[in-house]
This record gives sequence, C-alpha cells and structure tokens, in this order.
Amino acid sequence: MTATVEGSTQVDQDGPKPMFGEPRGLWPQIGTYLFILIPFVALIAAVPFAWGWGLGWVDVGLAAFFYTFTCLGTTVGFHRYFTHGAFKAKRAVRVGLAISGSMSLQGPILHWVADHRRHHAFADRDGDPHSPWAFGTSPAALVKGFWHAHMGWIFDRKLTNAERFAPDMLADPDIRRIDKQFGMWTAVTMLAPPVLGGLLTWSWWGAVTAFFWASLVRVSFLHHVTWSTNSICHIVGNRPFKSRDKATNFWPLAILSMGEAWHNLHHADPTSARHGVQRGQIDISARLIWLFEKFGWVSEVRWPTPQRLAKLTK
Ligand SMILES: [Zn+2]
Ligand SMILES: [Zn+2]
Repeated sequence: MTATVEGSTQVDQDGPKPMFGEPRGLWPQIGTYLFILIPFVALIAAVPFAWGWGLGWVDVGLAAFFYTFTCLGTTVGFHRYFTHGAFKAKRAVRVGLAISGSMSLQGPILHWVADHRRHHAFADRDGDPHSPWAFGTSPAALVKGFWHAHMGWIFDRKLTNAERFAPDMLADPDIRRIDKQFGMWTAVTMLAPPVLGGLLTWSWWGAVTAFFWASLVRVSFLHHVTWSTNSICHIVGNRPFKSRDKATNFWPLAILSMGEAWHNLHHADPTSARHGVQRGQIDISARLIWLFEKFGWVSEVRWPTPQRLAKLTK
C-alpha cells in the first residue's frame, strides 16, 4: 500500500492498463485552449488600462516575488518533497518548504499531500480526485471533465483521508502544526504584499494596488497554473514516457509551472526530482533542488539516470 501511495512502484507494478486509444476530437482540443486563453488575455488586456494609476513596478515586483516563492514552495515542497519523497531535507528546510507551500493557498499541507498521493494511486481511474476523463471521452464529457479536473473537484466536501494517504506526514509534529496554522499563513500571504507595497511607495494607494496584484491576482494566477497540471496536462500534449494514465508533457506551461508541466515523465517516474529530463526541457524546480543540494540543505536527491530513462521511454 505505502509503496503505491508514494508512487515508487508506479512503473514496475503494472496492473491492468486501461489505455484510452481514441484520438482527441478537434472541438475538445479547441475548447481547452479557449478556456485557458480567453480569461488570460482578458487579464493581460487589463494591464495597460491600469498601468500608471492602479499598477506599477512595485506591484509587478511584489507579484513576481510572491508568485515565485509560493510556486516553488508548492512544486519543490508540497509536491516533489512531501508527496513523493524525491529528496531528504534538513528540518529548517522542511519547515520552510511547508510554510511557503501553504502560502500558495492550495489548502492545508495534509490535504494537499493526501489528495495528490490519491491522484497518483488512481491516476485517471476510479478514485482519482481530479481526472478530466472521469465522465467519459465524448466532447461533452470532456468539457465537464475539464472543469472537474481543473477546479470543480476542489468544491467536493468529501476530504481525502490523510490517515490512509499521509501517515508519515501526520506523524511529524512540525507538519501537524503548520497544517493547523493554515489560517495564519493565509493572512500572511494576503497581507504581506500590501504592507510591503504601502511601505515601499509610502502611500495607502500603494498598499491597495499591491493587495490587488500581488495578493489577489498572484494567488489566483498560481491556482490556475497549478490546476492546469491536473486538467491540461492530462489531456493535451505529448506522452513520450510509459505512464499508465493520460498524463502529458505540455511545454507552454513549463516556465510558469516551474517544471511541473513535464507531467508525463512525472507520472512515469513519480519520485524523480527532475521532471524536465529531455534536452531543452527547462525545470526551474529541479534547478532549485540542485542548488539546495550544493548548499548541503538537502540530500539523497533522486536524480534521473540514463538507464532509468531508457527503461521509461516508449
Ligand atoms: Zn497528474
Ligand atoms: Zn505528483
């Protein structure tokens, strides 16, 4: 059980493989792009209107900083470290990653890890909390599935049982404490940008605009990037590696997701510290883990080996 939950035997322990062989229809593919692009274009279009009175360089700088900080807390911390054990970390690093991940407002750490381990244990099958294929493969089913995988599943009040999926996390008092402090970290991540924006511009208006861009927009933007891994990266993209689900590599999201969009490799080899393993596949999270390793902050990093990759390649 534990092995499956941690994903380490995902590849070797092949069960029956429901491979959905049908190619994706044109309309679902177009729909997927539109869902993502139109709201995003609207957001970008708002920028020139706001520039100079409701948006300035301080807001941009704060938004970029908090985006990067909380995104890496989620990808390196919540995902690669806590969920999959891609490396070992010293206590201070462990606590720091748990806090920065919590500040992305994707739920308390125990929920996040339990949900994500369940996703890997049942990927694109019954029991997966967020498979876009949950309702079938017709265009209508896929539109419904896209919504469900992207954000609909979050509103389900049934919570994944952390005692079953994350007993190792529950056993750690630091983690239990940070999990309970989720409300406090929510306040910190929402209030730190306006405090800094107010101080840097020495104005109340600077606090207001920083709150809008570096708190609200930044949190929402990272939500959508993260959720896109669950929705887009199980529908659209390439599948060069052997995973027993529908996970894909989707290059347009590689930078914004800090490497998480190389999702096909991730499902093929869940404990790997690097997801972007092919030539030119930028993986910022893997680079941070590499840096931490150089500083001696983390150890036993599971870097991919050529032999392992050869075994995983289709
Ligand atoms: Zn996935
Ligand atoms: Zn994962």
